Amino acid sequence: MRIGVLALQGAFIEHEQILARLGVSSFEIRQEKDLDSAFDGLIIPGGESTVQGKLLRELNMFDKIKNLIENGLPVFGTCAGLLLLAKKIENDDRTHLATMDISAVRNAYGRQLGSFYTEQDFKGIGKIPMTFIRAPYISGVQGDTEILAEADGHIVAARQKNQLVTAFHPELNDDLSVHEYFTKMIL
Ligand code: GLN
Repeated sequence: MRIGVLALQGAFIEHEQILARLGVSSFEIRQEKDLDSAFDGLIIPGGESTVQGKLLRELNMFDKIKNLIENGLPVFGTCAGLLLLAKKIENDDRTHLATMDISAVRNAYGRQLGSFYTEQDFKGIGKIPMTFIRAPYISGVQGDTEILAEADGHIVAARQKNQLVTAFHPELNDDLSVHEYFTKMIL
């Protein structure tokens, strides 16, 4: 198994480190030609969704990645990655890849709760650590999207077929379980 980590901006190295600990090989996707090599899954990291969306378009990777996901490539989006995949962003006119039937709110927790830590249940795993950094939450799920976790009264993880999203950053805690869950989606 080989996982591509979108490495345009944000917290991509931390994902690579978690994958290495799981014994999964990964590589960085930085430019269009990186999409030509064979890979079995894609991680879109946290960072700034607007910046990543702009770079995806400028680097001519946007349509290719959207097509791959629509054709079933397993994808895992964390935080900004969730926003890139959401079909609707309530407080932003723009959407990006818009492949997943979720609505999201950007920077949803206000200034005081901009960053916080909690431990909550994740369906199929159990209690896990969750670190939120100027995070979105999922305000609604549509179609066959399944809710996987809630925190602070909001949906913070969901899955629709080949697409997995978390509003929190599992790559920033010493817990491999969400990445392991993603690798099982690939197998
Ligand atoms: N606030 C960022 C955005 O809107 C997401 C924050 C994150 O990825 N940690 O894209």
